[in-house]
Amino acid sequence: MSRVALVTGGSRGIGRAVSMALASEGHTVAVNYARRDDAAAEVVESILAEGGTAHAFRADVSRPEEVKRLFAQVEERFGRPGILINNAGTTEDGLLARLDEGAWDRVMNINLKSVYLCSKAAIRGMLRARWGRIVSLGSVAGVSGNPGQTNYAASKAGVIAFSMSLSKEVGSRAITVNVVAPGFIETDLTSRLGSEVVERVRSSTSLRRLGRPEEVASAIGFLASEEASYITGQVLVVDGGLAL
Ligand code: NAP
Repeated sequence: MSRVALVTGGSRGIGRAVSMALASEGHTVAVNYARRDDAAAEVVESILAEGGTAHAFRADVSRPEEVKRLFAQVEERFGRPGILINNAGTTEDGLLARLDEGAWDRVMNINLKSVYLCSKAAIRGMLRARWGRIVSLGSVAGVSGNPGQTNYAASKAGVIAFSMSLSKEVGSRAITVNVVAPGFIETDLTSRLGSEVVERVRSSTSLRRLGRPEEVASAIGFLASEEASYITGQVLVVDGGLAL
């Protein structure tokens, strides 16, 4: 069945791959992004070229008034989303002794507050429809921790606890809430890492390589599907065996 899917940060990296995967399943995709109009236009054009339906919606999902406007625009154009992928995220790494409050607040707001704002906006329509899929991006850092990422790891652990709690609130209405926790995936976010870090990660994974955005997107696509109807409150780790 074709649904309206909203992918936050759907223009680049993992979000881009999710937008493409959901469109190829026949869903109408609302591609959210924050700044880069060119990247958002490119993914929408790619979806349209393959016969799908999509539109780009610019909004900073860490800001309540922009999330309100985003949902109003998506609803006006396509209808209420039955699928929400909370993918927008960022890093501002640094050891705690040097981590300033701004870096803490920005990462918490973009990675965690956005999940609260968007999920709250989305469940109104899902409760009424008595069907919904919410999949949020966690990280292995939010499960095992990572030096230099106290802010990022805390935000992603928060996403996991939020999702488990929400899954219990809305499960009786056939709404599932899950988390996909990637390891190291080749995107702009990880391109800033030094070659030494990349080599260490590569040799620590069972599969001896970093992951591709499409490999995370397929896990998200499954959790967003009809077939995943009895899976909720779960964290699916997609890390090539890194965290083992
Ligand atoms: P990315 O390549 O840096 O892309 C980030 C996307 O999020 C872009 O589309 C960006 O839009 C959008 N975005 C950023 N801030 C936003 C905001 N405030 N409001 C709306 N959109 C915003 O990131 P990625 O590597 O694909 O990561 C995607 C998600 O997976 C994140 O939640 C990340 O924490 C998680 N993750 C990634 C990895 C990895 O190895 N890559 C590992 C674990 C978890 P603009 O281009 O317009 O700014």
